[in-house]
Amino acid sequence: MASDPVETPQIIEVADGFYVRQAVDNMAWIDMGDYAVVVDALEQPHLAGEVMAEIDRTLGGKPVRYVLNTHTHYDHVALNGAFERLGAEIVNQETCSISSQGRWFDGRRRLKMLATPGCHTSEDCCVWCPEDRALLVGDIFGWGLTPCGAVTRRTIKILDETYGRLIAFGATTVVPGHGPVCATHELLRWVDYFHWLIDAVSKAHRAGDSESQIAASLAPPEDMKRWWRFVQWKHEDSVAKVVKAVCSGELGG
Ligand SMILES: [Zn+2]
Repeated sequence: MASDPVETPQIIEVADGFYVRQAVDNMAWIDMGDYAVVVDALEQPHLAGEVMAEIDRTLGGKPVRYVLNTHTHYDHVALNGAFERLGAEIVNQETCSISSQGRWFDGRRRLKMLATPGCHTSEDCCVWCPEDRALLVGDIFGWGLTPCGAVTRRTIKILDETYGRLIAFGATTVVPGHGPVCATHELLRWVDYFHWLIDAVSKAHRAGDSESQIAASLAPPEDMKRWWRFVQWKHEDSVAKVVKAVCSGELGG
């Protein structure tokens, strides 16, 4: 098996002045002209010095004016304080109100932070950069991980609607909260996979298979076997969530 693609953090230049530190926890920093914007702020506070040095090196010392958090789980906010002490404004659904229409940040490029709640947390936001066709989706996309706590009719509807909005951007670069950078293709593939799971589990349940028989019969799709940590545990986790929803009657059998 190939080695884990994010075992060693890697600085990826998505576009001129637009960088992603790709690792288990991702963060981005973006040159806006007079200032920089950071998106998401990792899990480990001790990385502050290393990350700030990288930002200085790649953006030539521009001040970070805003830190945008896609949501406030602990693994996305650890460096907020360090940036705030240097004068950055922290922007997430706890520090201000972001609508589904979004808040724009202007400079040499434009960024829009928009609310896309309900897939992973009630405060999910995404960040869209039209010039670079880059979309940062936080933990809404997780390389095969089902982002919501429980699969219900309501969460399926929210996931479908939100993924529809995200796919419509036609992003050529999609930055998830964790793991390798991808593109719109993976968003589309996940929606297909998720509905395939629901259909397959429902069919097997109607045929009278037990929960363990259903789980054992659903192998990971061939083309997704290379997805980050998918075969190791994410597929099994997604199957378990859908089996629970179907077999408990949540989805109406
Ligand atoms: Zn999260």
